[in-house]
Amino acid sequence: MRKQIAAANWKMNLTLQQGEALLDGILGKVSAPGSNQQVIFAVPFPYLASAQQKIAGKQQVFIAAQNCYNKKAGAYTGETSVEMLQSLGIQWVVLGHSERREYFGESDQFLAEKVNIVLETGLQPIFCCGEPLQIREQNTQNDYVGAQLKASLYHLSAEQVQKVVIAYEPIWAIGTGKTATSAQAQEMHAFIRAELAKQYGAEVANNISILYGGSVKAANAQEIFGQPDVDGGLVGGASLVVDEFVAIIEALK
Ligand code: PGA
Repeated sequence: MRKQIAAANWKMNLTLQQGEALLDGILGKVSAPGSNQQVIFAVPFPYLASAQQKIAGKQQVFIAAQNCYNKKAGAYTGETSVEMLQSLGIQWVVLGHSERREYFGESDQFLAEKVNIVLETGLQPIFCCGEPLQIREQNTQNDYVGAQLKASLYHLSAEQVQKVVIAYEPIWAIGTGKTATSAQAQEMHAFIRAELAKQYGAEVANNISILYGGSVKAANAQEIFGQPDVDGGLVGGASLVVDEFVAIIEALK
């Protein structure tokens, strides 16, 4: 059965001390995730090692990187390889966040290469997709998201694709306070699952967790996560507040 996942995306926020206090606060308050649930904290690179130590021994709790490079090693000043992440014990990497696509020009092809190297190294990607406002206004969001999935994921085998978690994040809902309605989220998640089923069969599609992201908070998490094809969330702003993120974790199915 696919996992229900609450993933925090700290983005480029918090000092080390603030991050440690946040993690301690959340881990101290939240009840242990159920066997079908996972909690993932995507923290900035410099905090990965200390965050990884803090979650040692906690079942179903993981630390993720927010990005990685598409090469194994070499003369790529300032970049971070998947093997470096692996050497810290990190098991997850967020890929293709809309901020990476927009501000750092990450293309579908570049992301396909990153997906490959993450899977080859034995880590798991949280692959982000989602449409900008203009596309939503033209009502062509299904074509747009379908093309993103095709370009970056459909070269994978059925076995590989089941290691990918997909995060659907409509760009117009990120950090704007404007959440997709639970019906809009369900509609897109069902579309994504149907596309995966066309490509890989229903059994594979049913094993893939699809997270919603975009202004998830304590007040709306339960309703959004309650939708049949929504398997949790990728949470930015509200993941920086102890009580908010604890409530979001507790809203998982
Ligand atoms: P938000 O960000 O929850 O602040 O909207 C979500 C994300 O970008 O992952």
